[in-house]
Amino acid sequence: MTVIDLHTQHERCGHATGSLRDYVTTALEMGVDVLGLSDHTPMFAAAEDHALPRVAMPKSEFPAYVAEALALKEEFAGRIEVLVSTEADYLAGATEPYARELARYPFDYIIGSVHMFEDKDIFDTSRWDGLDDDELPAVKARFFRTVADCARTGLFHVMGHVDALKGNHPRLGAVPAPAAADEMLRAIRDSGAVLEVNTSGNTKQHGGWYPETDVLERAHHFGVPVTFASDAHVPERICDQYADVVRVLRDIGFRRWTVFRQGRPRLLPME
Ligand SMILES: [Zn+2]
Ligand SMILES: [Zn+2]
Repeated sequence: MTVIDLHTQHERCGHATGSLRDYVTTALEMGVDVLGLSDHTPMFAAAEDHALPRVAMPKSEFPAYVAEALALKEEFAGRIEVLVSTEADYLAGATEPYARELARYPFDYIIGSVHMFEDKDIFDTSRWDGLDDDELPAVKARFFRTVADCARTGLFHVMGHVDALKGNHPRLGAVPAPAAADEMLRAIRDSGAVLEVNTSGNTKQHGGWYPETDVLERAHHFGVPVTFASDAHVPERICDQYADVVRVLRDIGFRRWTVFRQGRPRLLPME
């Protein structure tokens, strides 16, 4: 079985624990074949060097992050394939500083994620105050359309946790928004990006994975490739629920993971 995990953070972001080396050595001990180091990108659109200390590293720290990750890639070559990445925010209307800064580094791939939606953090529960349940399908559809816009920038290789707006709403996952989901999935496919199956849902109220199984089934229908993402913020969560994800994806009909090496997709057997 090929074991991969393309989404991990580490201590530089201010809300995860462990050094980059801790993630690499833990993954090696676990038998992981391909590990992506993908800490949160600095807030490139902000004026300050360290705009949100508990969200992301300072801008001035980013070169050291990339250099350390590249050095680990070299050091561990032949034992585990380390991919060098970053998880970038998609902020509508503010993609230019991201495009400019990200182009300066030899990333294997870049994850694009919507963490801010309609002026609030996606996990901010105040969003739901006073909102009727019958408004939920429209909110969810707008979120999917924002992820579609993220894909259409063409900046990203992997689309991060595409229905994570449900994270702190216990019922949003089951709310139907099929037309917007399909629009999002076609946008991802047409951009050349892949969909991550992210198992970090259990760290929030909703639980489960991002995205829901029905979205994975639709992704298979539209020919959207997939990759695995623990979104680990502690080394012990690397490849969390990996075998369960493989089983569900194989039942749906998926047979291959996609990983990226210097921006080029490469298919690996799921098992
Ligand atoms: Zn994080
Ligand atoms: Zn994220």
